[in-house]
Amino acid sequence: MHRSKVDCYVGIGSNLDDPIAHVKQGIRELGQLTGTERVAHSSLYASPPMGPPQQPDYINAVVKLRTTLEPLALLDRLLAIERRHGRTRGGEHWGPRALDLDILLYGDQQIDHERLRVPHPGLHERAFVLYPLEELAGDIDVPGRGRLRALAKHCPRGSLRRLEISQP
Ligand code: ATP
Ligand code: MG
Ligand code: MG
Repeated sequence: MHRSKVDCYVGIGSNLDDPIAHVKQGIRELGQLTGTERVAHSSLYASPPMGPPQQPDYINAVVKLRTTLEPLALLDRLLAIERRHGRTRGGEHWGPRALDLDILLYGDQQIDHERLRVPHPGLHERAFVLYPLEELAGDIDVPGRGRLRALAKHCPRGSLRRLEISQP
């Protein structure tokens, strides 16, 4: 059966064991998902940790995918990639992790499922999501929340910095 393709955005974060390498590898793996094409990715960014202090800085990026995977199927693929990067559940909430892959936007859908909320509930208050997303997508509409640029206006860049490093 032919299914139509949906543009979606995935946020990546890592702050363990060579985070830049994990993020670059994560970007590559997202391009290998079945039924999915990697359209573009943002620069890499560095930001201080959210949650428990005394963790290394995070490396973040956002990837744009065009996919035929249903939202929950995509989530399962992302969790599988996280596991391959050695991520185990049950640690501290927002504690250090080798790879975090969050679905930020899935087309223009709003999803409120016990395993999946889209747009990602933290999107509008996280500089490390808003600015890489803006770099990729410009002033898009965030379903239920308004325009991206207006959201960014209310969320200062803070110590987020764009890294000048070669791309994957
Ligand atoms: P946050 O979601 O605040 O960034 P986190 O990424 O550290 O925190 P995780 O431990 O990675 O949280 O995810 C816990 C669960 O969140 C996942 O198992 C998944 O079922 C659920 N979840 C809900 N909405 C999303 C989403 N949009 N993208 C990824 N996971 C989501
Ligand atoms: Mg997250
Ligand atoms: Mg997550």
